[in-house]
Amino acid sequence: MAASKVPVGQPLFSVLGIPVHVSIWHLLTLLFFFQSSFQNGIEFGLAMLFAASASVFLHEMGHALTSRHFGLQPTVVLTGFGGFTSHQPARRPRDEFIVVAAGPTMNFLLAGGLFALAAGVLSAEADMGFLGQLLSQIIFLNIFWGIYNLLPIMPLDGGQLLRVTLRKFIKKSLNADRWTHRVGLVLGALMAVFFAVQFHSVFGAVLLGLAAFENYRALQNVNEIDADYRADRPHPRVGELLTKAREAFEARDFESAMRYCHQARAEPELSPAEIRHTWHILAIAAASLGDLEDAIRFAERVPNSAEMAQVQATCLLSLAEPARIRVFLRSPAALLLTAERLEDLKAVVRTADA
Ligand SMILES: [Zn+2]
Repeated sequence: MAASKVPVGQPLFSVLGIPVHVSIWHLLTLLFFFQSSFQNGIEFGLAMLFAASASVFLHEMGHALTSRHFGLQPTVVLTGFGGFTSHQPARRPRDEFIVVAAGPTMNFLLAGGLFALAAGVLSAEADMGFLGQLLSQIIFLNIFWGIYNLLPIMPLDGGQLLRVTLRKFIKKSLNADRWTHRVGLVLGALMAVFFAVQFHSVFGAVLLGLAAFENYRALQNVNEIDADYRADRPHPRVGELLTKAREAFEARDFESAMRYCHQARAEPELSPAEIRHTWHILAIAAASLGDLEDAIRFAERVPNSAEMAQVQATCLLSLAEPARIRVFLRSPAALLLTAERLEDLKAVVRTADA
């Protein structure tokens, strides 16, 4: 799973600079699940426990390494129901998709790698020895964990992928979320029954049942937010985050200001004024930090703003790319520039043409 919750307490250890928290429930749940493995000997049982924990851990490292690649400061938490990776909200839906997909991908890669290893090492031996049995069970485990996590039920990875995808195709993000949770509610309930009947797994059924209930609650929440949005009442959490962002911005702590803005953007629905406000702070903060490309991208989201047009012009001047300046000069934003700034931009184009 990939989540935006922040764990409390000290991490147990760090891997590649990523802090890892381990709950006692992680070990206890694995013991419960793999108790039958101990029938094949204590070594086999312990090896399975270790392999299962490592599979869950590597899944989370898939999320953690990709989120760190995007600068989102991940933390891995191993819990009773597997694990999750908390990180700052992704800046772009594409980044979020990659971070979430990296977890199950890691399990499939691991299964594939172990399968190749098993085929290479064990093909000569006719019988399935200790190693053969262990490898086949770990391969099965990773395929199962990858597929289970891809079920399109929030908060599983599949549910998050569904949400990012629907938000891309459904214009209003609240409606995308509504469909995500409808699917989660129905499929969660069906899968709970399936796990109970097919796998006789009370644990699995309870987990999926809880997920279905969470989706039901989230659906109610979406409806409340939608009612606020229609009545143009501000979203309290967004208001709080934007206040923090403005305070950080005024204290010239641009990184914190941007973080609060990204957190606000991750909230289910922002009023048009809040959206404008968020892009505004992001654009100026990014420009102040020298992230010119980001600043331009953010400023473009606020049409009809003289200040945002100035931000775009300043960044384009620093980048000094005549082709882009030419495109910008033809955009409506150019009409909002001061005569002086307009002249600066035209000068760059003229120099390039000469
Ligand atoms: Zn995951």
